[in-house]
Formats: sequence, C-alpha cells, structure tokens
Amino acid sequence: MFKDISTAEIDTVLKKSHEAFLLYRRVTGDAKASFLEAIASGIEGLGNELLETAMGETNLPEARLAGERARTCNQLRQFASLVKEGSWVEARIDTAIPDRAPLPKPDLRKMMVPLGPVVVFGASNFPFAYSTAGVDTASALAAGCPVVLKAHPAHSKTSELVAGVIATAIKNIGMPSHTFQHVHGSSFEAGKGLVQHPLTKAVGFTGSFSGGKALYDYATQRPEPIPVFAEMGSVNPVFILPGALKARSEKVAEMYAASITQSVGQFCTNPGLLLSLTSPELNQFAKQLGERMKIIAPGTMLHPGIASNYKKNRDKALVQKGVSLEAASNDAPKENQGESTLATVHASDFLNNPTLVEEVFGPYSLLVEAANIEELKAAVRKIPGQLTATIIGEEDELLHYADFVQLVIEKAGRVIINGVPTGVEVCPSMHHGGPFPATTDSRFTSVGTDAIKRFVRPVSFQNFPDALLPAELKQNNPMGIWRLFNNEIRK
Ligand code: NAP
Repeated sequence: MFKDISTAEIDTVLKKSHEAFLLYRRVTGDAKASFLEAIASGIEGLGNELLETAMGETNLPEARLAGERARTCNQLRQFASLVKEGSWVEARIDTAIPDRAPLPKPDLRKMMVPLGPVVVFGASNFPFAYSTAGVDTASALAAGCPVVLKAHPAHSKTSELVAGVIATAIKNIGMPSHTFQHVHGSSFEAGKGLVQHPLTKAVGFTGSFSGGKALYDYATQRPEPIPVFAEMGSVNPVFILPGALKARSEKVAEMYAASITQSVGQFCTNPGLLLSLTSPELNQFAKQLGERMKIIAPGTMLHPGIASNYKKNRDKALVQKGVSLEAASNDAPKENQGESTLATVHASDFLNNPTLVEEVFGPYSLLVEAANIEELKAAVRKIPGQLTATIIGEEDELLHYADFVQLVIEKAGRVIINGVPTGVEVCPSMHHGGPFPATTDSRFTSVGTDAIKRFVRPVSFQNFPDALLPAELKQNNPMGIWRLFNNEIRK
C-alpha cells in the first residue's frame, strides 16, 4: 500500500539524515526534552484513531494496545527527563597540573557524544513500544542521533500515524528537518541498503534471530563496520525447584498458564522452556498446567506470517525424539490462530537436541524433566544466551541451590526469582538484553534509560580552550549538571 523505498531514495534519505545530524547533535538537552515530550503528547492526541488502526492491523486487543501506548509515552518522557538533567553524558574533568613531575599533566575532559544517523526497524509484536516512536527511536533522538525508521509492513498505517506526530513535533519545536524520516520496504533489499549505507552509524532491531543476524552480518561486511543492537529470540528458561512444587504447584501452574499464553505468546520474554527435577509433584504440575492451558482458546496472531511460523515451528518441535504433547487448546485453531501448547521431554533427550532450545514464537512451552541436579545443571549449560531466566523456589531452598543460581546468572540479562518473565518494567534498573543469541551485544539494554548508551561514544578533549569545549565540559558549566571534577563530584 505504501511505496517501497528505492536504492536512490535510500541514498537521499541518509544524506538528509547526515545533514540533520550536523545540526541536531548540537541541540541542547532542554530542547531535545521538549521534542520528546511533544511526541508523547502528540501520540496521546491521536486518541482512538491510533488504537483502532493498530487493532485492525495487529489483531491485538484494545486494552493491551492502550497499555503499550502508555508505556511508549512514559518511555519518551523518561528520556526527556534524562536529557534535561544531563548527567547521562558522563562528563569527566581532570584539570591540568603543569608543574607535575616528572611530566606535566594535560587538561583532559571526556563526555559521550552521539554516533550519527541510526536506522531503526519497527517490530511486529510491539506496534508502539518497539516501533516508530518506541524505545530505539526515543533513545537515539535523546542521544542526539537522527533516526531513519523502517516501518514494519504488518502495521504500516499505525506507523504512518505516529510518524506524522513526529513530523509535527519537528516543525513545532523547531528541530532540524529530517531529524526523523519514515520509510517503507517490503523486500530485504531495502533493509540491507539502509544498514549498508555509508552514512548509517548504528542500527536498532527487534525481531527474529534470522532477521537480526542478517542485519548484523550486513553491518560487519561494510568497509566501515557499525554496531547493530539486535534483540532476537529467547526461550526464557524457568527452573522450578522441588520445594516450590511441593508447596504450591497449583499456584505456579496458574501463573505460568497465563504467562505462556498472554497475547497469544507473542512476547520476546515468553517462557518457552520449563525445567525441573523428576518427582510425583512434577507429574502433578504437568497435569495442572496442561489442564489450565487446554481451556485457553487459540488466539489470532499478529500476522499470517507469524501464525504460519508458529505452526511450522510447533510441528517441528513436537516430532523431535522423546517429545510428547501434554496438552493443547480444547478448541481447534482457526485461520491465523495459535493454539496453547504444552509439551514434555526428558533431559536425556533435551541434552542431545539443539532444536529444542530454539524459540517457538507463540503460546508454546516445553517442560524438561531432569533425573537429578547434575542433569539439570547440564541442561543449563546447553541453553544459549537468554533475555531472561527465572527460578521458582522456596526461600530456604534458593540458598541451598546457591551454586545453581550462579550458573543461571551466566546465561541471562535478567534473572527473576518467583515471578514470570513476561511484563518488562520500564525503569533505569531494567536490563532487557542478554548474551548472544538473545542479542548481538549483551552489554546494552533496549529497555530503560540506559538504552541511550547504544547510540553514543566517548570523546576526550585534551587541552581545549574553554570557548571550544561542549557546554557540559566548560569550567563554569551553565547547565548546572553533576560532573566528576578531579575525581570529586561537584555541582
Ligand atoms: P523479522 O522477520 O525478524 O522481521 C523484522 C524486520 O526485519 C522486518 O522489517 C524485516 O523486513 C526485516 N528483516 C528481516 N530479515 C531481514 C533480512 N534478512 N534482510 C533485511 N531485512 C530483514 O520479524 P517479524 O516479521 O516480526 O516476525 C517473523 C518471526 O520473527 C516470527 O514468527 C517470530 O518467530 C520472530 N519474532 C521474534 C520476536 C522476539 O521478540 N523474539 C519478535 C517478533 C518476531 P521485511 O519487512 O522486508 O520482512
């Protein structure tokens, strides 16, 4: 419906983005904050039109979309507060000591500066929070980087509406034109062209492993490689300790039936793998969880491609050696629907089959039964890097399994005790990332204000005259931000 961007247009878009960068990188924190706040208010101002458009394109219910819209505006406002306050630039000032022996010490000042134009790929499963004005865009704009957004084809009208809000905010707040540009492309060539354009300096992505890895490979094949911050698949393992099963298996089953099937399982934090030790309580838990999942009806998935991928990956998982179907939705799925599914397997089969740790994106989970703690530890070692890992246990047994807990921490960016991995709080202490293949760089988060760190680099300014220094590093800093001054913090 919208015209795909051509190779010639990609060149024009990136050239304009670079021109915008030369101006936008010097925009003050206060002005960037007004810009981000104007985008948040503009999104709210779209009212029901935005929700109805997104509902029509994604099959997500109104309540879920209203919550995601609130989260998106909250994210934008958190970045506005961050850039207004200013300490995110991590200014360091070491003044000169000219008479230091045996050598004089130069005047050195360091701070973070923006990378340049960032290409962001909208995500199919979060039409607001990880798409047009989502966290990648908000953090790049906060850092001082212009954004070129490739709309996800599954919700391009929703994306156009939000892009219109950003265009209006650019005009009203007086930001450099082309600080944000919105493009469409239904072929992989468009994505490849955007990533490989010489003026692109970083990429933000959320989606499949194959998509994220392909973009990462395009970026590393460039004459000048650039960072790609790709958040890809995860099975989010959940380890259920024996004491918890004895004490509250029904409660855990209730909590997990809801988490596995929420939004038809279309969350990157969906618990796709449950692991525990053989016991009568575990058999009972499998039955309790299965009974609950049977009564959760199949739901319509985000788009036909995701629904057919779910069917294909589910079918593939269910025919693996030793895998049994424990339970599925009582109702048969209709077109483009995903049915709730619980499968089981013994750890001995799990340990020898890498297919079983692949993401089945949808309302699916595999329960792995280990004969003893050594086998459970071997299973942990087989699981690749994850966004999250969860441990369900009674307080005293968590201490008893302290070594096991340490092993689990090595695998994931967020480790949860006695909760579910779905539901990601947006705040500075959130880390939404994890070792490869969960992401392409485990050091960075794509949720929370630290997401800004993906799009900046440090620069040291040595012996600079005060007049040429950025405002944040001047002797009498008019911004009044906190700075490290010869290792002392001063206002
Ligand atoms: P996707 O296939 O990864 O696509 C996301 C974006 O990346 C789209 O704009 C797509 O372009 C682009 N892209 C993908 N591969 C590319 C390549 N080789 N070269 C250039 N651009 C490329 O994700 P999706 O469409 O949202 O869903 C497909 C599957 O991804 C799902 O079935 C699910 O398994 C998984 N998924 C996982 C998560 C998660 O959070 N773990 C989230 C969403 C989806 P086009 O528009 O041209 O295709």
